[in-house]
Amino acid sequence: MLGRQDADFLDAEEVALLRSHDARVIEQGERVAVEERFRGANSSDERIYYSVKLPLRDDTGAVYALCGISTDITDYRQIQDQLHQLAYYDPLTSLPNRRLLLERLRESLAERTHVRNDGALMLIDLNNFKQLNDTLGHAVGDQLLEQVGERLKHHLHSTDTLARLSGDEFVLLLPHLHPDAQEAALQAHHMTQRVLDDLAQPFQLQNSDYLASACIGVALFSDSGMDADTLLRNADLALTEAKLSGRNTHRFFNPSMQVEVNRRSQLETALRLAIAHNDLQLFIQPQWHQDGSVIGAEALVRWPHKEKGWISPGDFIPIAETSGLIVPLGEWVLEQACVTLARWQTIPALASLVLAINISPRQFRHNDFVNQVENCVTRHRIDPSRLELEITESLLIDDVEQTIARMNQLRQHGIRFSLDDFGTGYASLGYLKRLPLFQLKIDQSFVRDLLTDSNDEAIVRTIIALGHGMDLAVIAEGVETAEQADHLRKLGCDSFQGYFFGRPAAIPEWEGKLADRPAAL
Ligand code: C2E
Ligand code: CA
Ligand code: CA
Repeated sequence: MLGRQDADFLDAEEVALLRSHDARVIEQGERVAVEERFRGANSSDERIYYSVKLPLRDDTGAVYALCGISTDITDYRQIQDQLHQLAYYDPLTSLPNRRLLLERLRESLAERTHVRNDGALMLIDLNNFKQLNDTLGHAVGDQLLEQVGERLKHHLHSTDTLARLSGDEFVLLLPHLHPDAQEAALQAHHMTQRVLDDLAQPFQLQNSDYLASACIGVALFSDSGMDADTLLRNADLALTEAKLSGRNTHRFFNPSMQVEVNRRSQLETALRLAIAHNDLQLFIQPQWHQDGSVIGAEALVRWPHKEKGWISPGDFIPIAETSGLIVPLGEWVLEQACVTLARWQTIPALASLVLAINISPRQFRHNDFVNQVENCVTRHRIDPSRLELEITESLLIDDVEQTIARMNQLRQHGIRFSLDDFGTGYASLGYLKRLPLFQLKIDQSFVRDLLTDSNDEAIVRTIIALGHGMDLAVIAEGVETAEQADHLRKLGCDSFQGYFFGRPAAIPEWEGKLADRPAAL
């Protein structure tokens, strides 16, 4: 190398990096010890060097040169990586092993002290694996395990961990489930179903189909304290229960979660059918202006169930949201609303009414949402300004930019937005002024205690001032008494909705009343 320069070995960027290290030594008198990765000017192999650079000083202490020593540590690093791989990964499937799983599990549990999420540990065990090993040999058994690992990987989200514990036992760690334990249980339940369905598809072993099956034991973080070993033990107990119940089954460690999950999955199946068979009904509840005229109505979905009677949307909307059924359900509501608005346009007494529909976050975020709304409005030839979308603050917690962009798109088409349940969410007020809103809707919890709780009165007063300050209309929901209505009117609230003015009822019923009604109350 004698007589040659850095530039003979390295490209311009790499030389610049070296010079910056040199400058620290020469100008600041620092001792620099760094790991440097260089590809070189004409090689594609990356080499890793450990370089130490020292200032050389004269009698007065001034730096007059630097002395540098670089050692090529590429091979050493490769061995280290291999050791890490051996220590933390299963050689057969390349999945994390028990040790890495436990580390990740402890990290996830520690994170829970400041993140509100629940999480789940799912222990997955293949049925009859020993039999396969004994009859077809270990090499074939290994093939199955590799393929199972590959399939399970497809179900992972970025923060999930899939590990192989031992033999035919796999573990899925889902650290970021819903903060509410029952919602989390339902999410875990959906995951177990996807996994069991997937593992029930035939595997290819020695050129022929092999049918495998599995059982899953699930323990939620919230059931098992903060301890990784307890969590594993609980998932294992649940797995034993699942194995006793037959192939392709899963069990939760917590029996009450199991009951809840069963109840919800039955409801989910029934709801799926109800949507498909057009069994849902749309009710409406009128909204009154403070001058006494009716300005519009909110559409509220109802589910008449053969055995259970009327099921409240409070019970089935959350199920529709976690299962994804909210998308077809929301489409149905949108369609009904547009049909209704189209009819109202032909009736003079109803032609100026606005119809509001509730939009769940999952529905709003669906890729096709904007398209669906625009399409429905066009197809039914309705005036878009008669359609109002009620959204909630939860849309503003993540992906705010996308939310704002979508709202603007719809707003440009003339559709208006009302912010529902206002005051109960966690949205930053800073976002409020960036949203193309028409109206704030004061949550009914504040209206309920308006006359008895001075805090609630202060909140209502503030929301009205805030809304008007931003040129938004303000409506109060859940108005049940004349006193509440009076008080809200005094506070300057623009419009009202609630049992005092009228209960939700089937659309023809309200249409009849509103069409016959004199212009003001
Ligand atoms: P929300 O949007 O806050 O709707 C208002 C709820 O308050 C309705 O309950 C309504 O019947 C009820 N309500 C109206 N006036 C009064 C009153 O004076 N006092 C009291 N205590 N309650 C009153 P509902 O119909 O059971 O709906 C519950 C929730 O279900 C709705 O809350 C909304 O979040 C959701 N929901 C209803 N229909 C749909 C829908 O079509 N799509 C979506 N995504 N969600 C819906
Ligand atoms: Ca609403
Ligand atoms: Ca509401």
